[in-house]
Amino acid sequence: MSTSTLIPHWLDGAPFLGSAEAASARTGDVTNPATGAVTAQVAFADEDDAARVIGAAAAAARAWAETSLTKRTQIVFAFREILNARKEELAALITAEHGKVLDDALGEVSRGLEVVEFACGIPHLLKGGYSEGVSSGVDVHSKRQPLGVVGIISPFNFPAMVPMWFFPLAIAAGNTVVLKPSEKDPSAAVWMAERWKDAGLPDGVFNVLQGDKVAVDALLDSPDVKAISFVGSTPIARYVYERASQSGKRVQALGGAKNHMVVLPDADLDLAADQAVSAGYGSAGERCMAISVVVAVGGVGDELVAKIADRTRTLRTGDGTRGADMGPLVTAAHRDKVASYVEAGEEAGAKLVVDGREVVADGGADGFWLGPTLLDQVTPDMSVYTDEIFGPVLSVVRVDTYDEAVALVNGNPYGNGVALFTSNGGAARRFEYDIEVGMIGINVPIPVPMAYYSFGGWKSSLFGDSHAHGTEGVHFFTRGKVVTSRWGDPAVKPVGGLELAFPKNH
Ligand code: NAD
Repeated sequence: MSTSTLIPHWLDGAPFLGSAEAASARTGDVTNPATGAVTAQVAFADEDDAARVIGAAAAAARAWAETSLTKRTQIVFAFREILNARKEELAALITAEHGKVLDDALGEVSRGLEVVEFACGIPHLLKGGYSEGVSSGVDVHSKRQPLGVVGIISPFNFPAMVPMWFFPLAIAAGNTVVLKPSEKDPSAAVWMAERWKDAGLPDGVFNVLQGDKVAVDALLDSPDVKAISFVGSTPIARYVYERASQSGKRVQALGGAKNHMVVLPDADLDLAADQAVSAGYGSAGERCMAISVVVAVGGVGDELVAKIADRTRTLRTGDGTRGADMGPLVTAAHRDKVASYVEAGEEAGAKLVVDGREVVADGGADGFWLGPTLLDQVTPDMSVYTDEIFGPVLSVVRVDTYDEAVALVNGNPYGNGVALFTSNGGAARRFEYDIEVGMIGINVPIPVPMAYYSFGGWKSSLFGDSHAHGTEGVHFFTRGKVVTSRWGDPAVKPVGGLELAFPKNH
């Protein structure tokens, strides 16, 4: 790819440049984080571009809703087959723009594929209920229908998986989609649009709108868009939730996280250390389910920190195409911000056990490098604890008791994921009940639910009451109707007459 490459929107089954062709066009740089090089520009939609793309989705909505359920799910199945056969291509695109190592990018695609597979079985979840003879000659049935156009706004850290939390179900349920991917890694969205075309999806059903706040606001305000699925940082999630709700849409807005891993004194410390390192530094900590705080309970701190530090020092940081364990951060600005937290933590009195700023990476000299960093003796008033850092920085907080650990987790404004490491089933059972977090792992560090369950946090990690995928996802993208009908028996003379009171004994 050369710097003259311009990554387009996707409109009506074809690439669309819109205002990006004008000399005064707004575009954004797309970089390869492992080299620091600008590899392409991405089109930034203006209001006219947004209206064109949303208009195409609106125009396609009725015909797609009326396409038979069998045909719709056959197309989703065809998409699944194509995606599965070509997933290495998508993984390579992700690594080139996001920086995560190839293996991890492939894992991301596989988790997205699970939702596509779940969507193939959507007919089972779109079945209504039926009650015969609720009154004389009266039957009741229910059905679920698509909403129309739905907008999906996604973050940089999972350019394929997060959109796939939503669009397979939205499309299978009979909606049309406008996806607004992150401007930092926009190519995956266009690649997936091409695969939908290959799968036989009618033009206009899946569209991509590239850009920034202008594109997002157009989706939030358009009367043609009936629902918004957003994933990103908490301040933007709150903004999206409020603005889209004001214009009458249903909204699910998933926000940021600060995920704790509580290690009880009876835990297997080798297992806990392995998992803390994998879940803390995988994808350079740029995962909403990354572990960022290890809570060492009741005197396990010294041994646990030593085990985590030993493992951390073995990690190889480098270009994701060269077999490294961990890649670069997504941009230079983000790398600098994450590094500034390491400095702030040290200044506030945390003990720097492993310093990622000294990393020698196997990659370009101008890559956005920061190695895995371990801070011990972190306290809840430090910015390394209070803020979502979203980088390879693992903090260890020490507490004396289980109750203190639970109070710490529950006192945190975020509630996305949490993990408990223990060999005591009773303690685990108690923890599941006590903890105010949406997704819980017991001896599992990143408890991302399978596609047939729903994904979502509590508190500042989710605005709205609908989690992603699973049954909740199907409900989010459909709305219910209940039909009460009366058909008289032709052999029986109908009983007429007026009755102005509510019916009592039918
Ligand atoms: P972000 O909030 O900066 O961006 C998310 C989306 O919002 C992007 O498409 C971006 O273009 C758009 N956006 C950014 N600023 C905007 C503004 N002012 N107005 C309107 N739209 C705007 O998030 P990010 O940096 O791309 O992603 C990282 C964040 O996402 C982290 O906070 C992470 O925890 C969170 N995340 C959460 C989950 C979850 O499931 N809860 C999953 C993945 C990522």
